Amino acid sequence: MVAIIGAGPSGIYAAEALSQQSDVPVAVAVLDRLPVPFGLVRYGVAPDHHSIRSIRNTLERTLEKSGVRFYGDVNIGSDVTIEELRGVVDAVIYAYGAGSDRRLGIEGEDLFGSIAAPEFVAWYCGHPDVHPDIDRMAPRGAVPASKAERAARLIATTQSAVVVGVGNVALDVARVLIKSVAELDDTDMADDVLDSLADKMVTDVHILGRRGPAYTTFTTKELRELGQLPDVDVIVDPADLEFDQSSRAVIEMDKVAARNVAVMADWAKAPRTNAARRIHLHFWTKPNAILGVDQVEAVQTERTRINADGYVEGTGETGLIPAQLVVRSVGYKGVQLPGVPFDPNTGRVPHSEGRVIRDGEFSTDEYVTGWIKRGPTGVIGTNKSDAVETVTSLLTDIHDGAIAGKHSIDELDELLADRGIHPLGMPAWHRIDAAEIELGESHGRRRTTLAHRSELLAAAEDHT
Ligand code: NAP
Repeated sequence: MVAIIGAGPSGIYAAEALSQQSDVPVAVAVLDRLPVPFGLVRYGVAPDHHSIRSIRNTLERTLEKSGVRFYGDVNIGSDVTIEELRGVVDAVIYAYGAGSDRRLGIEGEDLFGSIAAPEFVAWYCGHPDVHPDIDRMAPRGAVPASKAERAARLIATTQSAVVVGVGNVALDVARVLIKSVAELDDTDMADDVLDSLADKMVTDVHILGRRGPAYTTFTTKELRELGQLPDVDVIVDPADLEFDQSSRAVIEMDKVAARNVAVMADWAKAPRTNAARRIHLHFWTKPNAILGVDQVEAVQTERTRINADGYVEGTGETGLIPAQLVVRSVGYKGVQLPGVPFDPNTGRVPHSEGRVIRDGEFSTDEYVTGWIKRGPTGVIGTNKSDAVETVTSLLTDIHDGAIAGKHSIDELDELLADRGIHPLGMPAWHRIDAAEIELGESHGRRRTTLAHRSELLAAAEDHT
């Protein structure tokens, strides 16, 4: 009996790897603190990326398999401790992702109008952590009390936004900021979110890369999308495409970098079309300070170069970008789950091939996969091979007799029942799914995400 903590892609791929083998019969419980499964596929993948979001259908099929059960709305670490969970299962796989964000460490970072990309992404994806229950919302016009209200007010007052970082999340954020609300209507965004985006008046998004165009972490398909947005000019300074020796070496060795640079070179050559909105890609530029009195008014930037030791350093040449919103898109960060081994320097659970290291030794029943194992990198599919590695280690340990196989899933059910916890299973998810489709169709949309926890729980109820 194996418990997997986290029902995002990494946890569900681990469940799939366990259920696909027939050497050892394994019962799998996939637990999540949220009432719904799918993790970043629901709450991270951009709503306008329909094909990536459709991976959900494959993940759903895994959770429906015999031998696999979904336990939603169970908070391991608070409802039940790790030690208690380990007492009723044969092994546990940590797959709870990277729940926090990295900071820039510059002046003005906490001003109203400066937010982390993971928070902004969670807002537009309708994550219940960011969308508090309706009765706790402040009345319109009052000081924004919740992250959702803050995001909504920011959107309504932003004409120019700065996005720091040149990874795929920065591209997602830039697209959501620059697209018209009509272009976002065919997504499953929550009603509150779409209403806020309808008030949007963003005309300019500035994306800052602290190194040159050869060093982005964009995937080319996602980068190209920027150039396909109607009535948007993508502006690249041709001077940024004059490459130094190290950039040339990167372009020669890395096919993705070469393709990305070619896309940007085309934009640098293209004449402006006088489009209504613009995305500016600024390379060799770092933010030095976020300026403003009560809220963000501008970003002070500095040109950069790579020094002899290979580090980015400022050249002293500064600039100013007026902006009302700054989104730092500089990566996610893993956090510790109480009772789980954690390395604060790497933000990961220490391990070897997925076997968790506790107090300097291999733990006999703990495994790890996904972002909390390898860090916040890779695309959704990367989690599949990662999960296979972890599950291979676990199955090897079962074969070698290191894991006894003495527990049944009933013991987990008893523990949860003792605590008064009523997990939501796949039937509850199907009721939520149906409610979201029904709500969407009532507005002529395919689906509308229920963002508030109270809405999710109400939709999950069985009225038969
Ligand atoms: P990421 O790819 O690691 O990009 C982070 C960016 O932040 C890098 O450009 C990095 O620059 C920059 N950065 C870090 N610290 C900085 C600082 N102090 N000042 C300025 N810039 C800084 O992370 P992400 O964009 O959050 O994406 C996370 C993962 O999800 C990635 O693997 C991504 O591919 C994946 N993802 C995929 C998709 C998709 O496939 N459609 C969509 C979204 C996310 P340096 O390189 O100079 O450090």
